[in-house]
Amino acid sequence: MKKFAIAIHGGAGTILRSAMDAQKEKLYQSALREALLIGTDILRSNGSALDAVEQTVKNLEDCELFNAGRGSVFTSDEQHEMDASIMEGQGLKAGAVSLIKTVKNPVQLARLVMEKTDHVFLAGEGAERFAREMQMESMPKDYFYTEQRYQQLLLARSSDRVILDHADELKDKKYGTVGAVALDLQGHLAAATSTGGMTNKRYGRVGDTPMIGAGTYANDAGCAISCTGSGEYFIRMNVAFHVYALMVYGRLSLEEASRKVVMDLLPSIEGDGGLIGVDRSGNISLCFNTEGMYRASYHSDYGEFVGIYRE
Ligand code: ASP
Repeated sequence: MKKFAIAIHGGAGTILRSAMDAQKEKLYQSALREALLIGTDILRSNGSALDAVEQTVKNLEDCELFNAGRGSVFTSDEQHEMDASIMEGQGLKAGAVSLIKTVKNPVQLARLVMEKTDHVFLAGEGAERFAREMQMESMPKDYFYTEQRYQQLLLARSSDRVILDHADELKDKKYGTVGAVALDLQGHLAAATSTGGMTNKRYGRVGDTPMIGAGTYANDAGCAISCTGSGEYFIRMNVAFHVYALMVYGRLSLEEASRKVVMDLLPSIEGDGGLIGVDRSGNISLCFNTEGMYRASYHSDYGEFVGIYRE
């Protein structure tokens, strides 16, 4: 029997049950469910994994709870610079954008780079100009502004630190990047990731999210992966492709490969965060080395799962 599967994340980090009230918890759970449902409906009606991850991530970008699109964190000079990427596993086509300031849904711009240009990666003014040519919806600066993120910037500045999203205190590290991976009924895989990056990041800094192989990867021969965490470490460890390589060349299962990278290799260079993955058999991995990760999944055989904390 053919199956489909989807997994999503809204970032990993110091997400403690003790620091969360019931109302906030419900807000996150329902935001995750809403996004998951969008992807699930597309897959159930025989839509492509690519459409499912794009539309799911778009929904998460529109939700200000997460650090992507609306609700993105601030750079050190009070700007928003968003990164996103998307990849499909059948033809290994990919698109990525970086340093986006005005586009409402960077993940859709990444898909247009993939489909309408000969390139994989557009950054900065060139990407913005391409978005205008494509008549993509753009937003004024205040659309991306949220008070909570601004307070995070002030906090980060006061201690001269670069911090990760959702951090209520500096000792907390939370990464609010969003992502989705999916297997469709045709057996194809896709992955997409979108982020505002890190609070107080230097102007022009690019993280792992738009880097194919670091924050995002999909290949029908193995798996689709979307990451969240301290981007610099994910880049250096080539995390998304690393999981794929351990599966395909190292003959590990998706779960074994994910655990090897997230629980062993990343901590060896002090990298923290997590990833979501799905393989071509529909196995799902939701793996993180932090206290929690906003995450959800749906499998056509096993149904829905929503989680926040380490179980
Ligand atoms: N990986 C993202 C970055 O470094 C941050 C995150 O996951 O929230 O830009």
